[in-house]
Amino acid sequence: MDLLNTLVDKGLRRELPTRAEALAVLATSDDDLLDVVAAAGKVRRQWFGRRVKLNYLVNLKSGLCPEDCSYCSQRLGSKAEILKYTWLKPDEASEAAAAGVAGGAKRVCLVASGRGPTDRDVDRVSKTIAAIKEQNEGVEVCACLGLLSEGQAERLREAGADAYNHNLNTSEGTYGDITTTHTYADRVDTVQKAHDAGLSACSGLIAGMGESDEDLVDVVFALRELDPDSVPVNFLIPFEGTPLAKEWNLTPQRALRILAMVRFVCPDVEVRLAGGREVHLRTLQPLALHLANSIFLGDYLTSEGQAGKADLDMIADAGFEVEGTDTTTLPKHRADAVAGGCGSHGGGACAPCGDTTGETAPENEPEPAASGARPDLVAVRRRGAGTDLAPNA
Ligand code: SF4
Repeated sequence: MDLLNTLVDKGLRRELPTRAEALAVLATSDDDLLDVVAAAGKVRRQWFGRRVKLNYLVNLKSGLCPEDCSYCSQRLGSKAEILKYTWLKPDEASEAAAAGVAGGAKRVCLVASGRGPTDRDVDRVSKTIAAIKEQNEGVEVCACLGLLSEGQAERLREAGADAYNHNLNTSEGTYGDITTTHTYADRVDTVQKAHDAGLSACSGLIAGMGESDEDLVDVVFALRELDPDSVPVNFLIPFEGTPLAKEWNLTPQRALRILAMVRFVCPDVEVRLAGGREVHLRTLQPLALHLANSIFLGDYLTSEGQAGKADLDMIADAGFEVEGTDTTTLPKHRADAVAGGCGSHGGGACAPCGDTTGETAPENEPEPAASGARPDLVAVRRRGAGTDLAPNA
C-alpha cells in the first residue's frame, strides 16, 4: 500500500505525515490491519528496538476531585465506587513504588487527584520523591499533580522529579464537551511549564470518548507540536457512575489503528499503551507492543489491570524485552535534548492514567458505537495504595 510505504519512510526520517495521511490510517479496513501494524512496527523498531519500558502508577490521593472531567471516576459528583483517600505518606508511597520497581518498572508515576497542587502539596510530593529515589536506585519519577502554578515545575525538578505528566486528552475543539472546570489552554500551559523547567514532558490522549477521526488527528498533531517525550494513549474505561459510562466506542482493531497513527505522527517518542488496554484490546494486546514501546505495569489509578506476571509473560511471548534501568529509553537525539522534553525534537489536571470501536467510518464522522461493550472487564481497584492488600506488580 503506497500510504504505508510513505508513512514508514517518513517515520524513519522523523518527518511529519500530512493530516490526510494520518486520517487515512484511521480509515483503513480490518483487512489491512496487519499491514498497518507491520508498517508502524518498522518505525517503532527503528527508534526503540524490541524494548518495552514498564511504568508503575502510584495513586497518592484518590477521588474527591472538584474538577468535572467526564471520563474520570474521581470527578466531582462521580458515583463510581472507587477507593477514596487523602495523601499517602512518603513511606507508604515509597513502599508502593518499590513493588512496581521489583516487578520491573523503570519509571514510577506519582499521581494525585485535584485541579492542581498547593505549594504545601509540592512539599509533600518532594519528600515522597526523595524517599523513592533513596530506596530505588536509578528509578525515574514522574509527577502528575494537575495544573501547575508558577515555579512549581522548577520546585519539582529540584526535588528530583524527572518528568511531569499532564494529558491534553482530546482535541481543542471538543475539550469543552468533556470538561468545563478548566480549559484546553490551561492544559497546554502546564505541559509547557514542565518543559520549560527541564522536566521531561509527558502528555497524551484518551480515545473512545465519542470523538471523530478529525479530533483524534487534531490532538495527536497538537501533541507533536508540544513535543513531549512520552505520549500515553488511553482508551476510555467507561466507568459506571460517570457521564461517559455508556461510551463503548472502541474495538480492538480500532484501538490498534489509533496506536499506529500515533506512532506515525510521533515516530521517535515514547508511545505508552495506557489505561483501557485490557478492556478494549483484550486478546490483541500483544499486537500493540509492535506500536507502543512502553506500558503501565499492574493496576491503574482506580481500576485493576491484568496481573503484572501476565504483562511480563505477554512481553516475552511476543518477542520483546523489558527495558532495564541501565538503558536510555529515548533515541540519542531526543535523550540529549531532554538533558535540555512528539515532534522531531531536534528537529493531563492529573492524568487519567488508565481510569478512565471495525468497519471504517466516513471521514469527519465518529465511528458507530461498537456492540462489544464489556463492562464485565472493568474492575474497581481494591488493592495496593490506600489499602491493606498487596499491590499488583
Ligand atoms: S482527571 Fe484529574 S482533574 Fe479531572 S476529575 Fe479526574 S482527578 Fe480531577
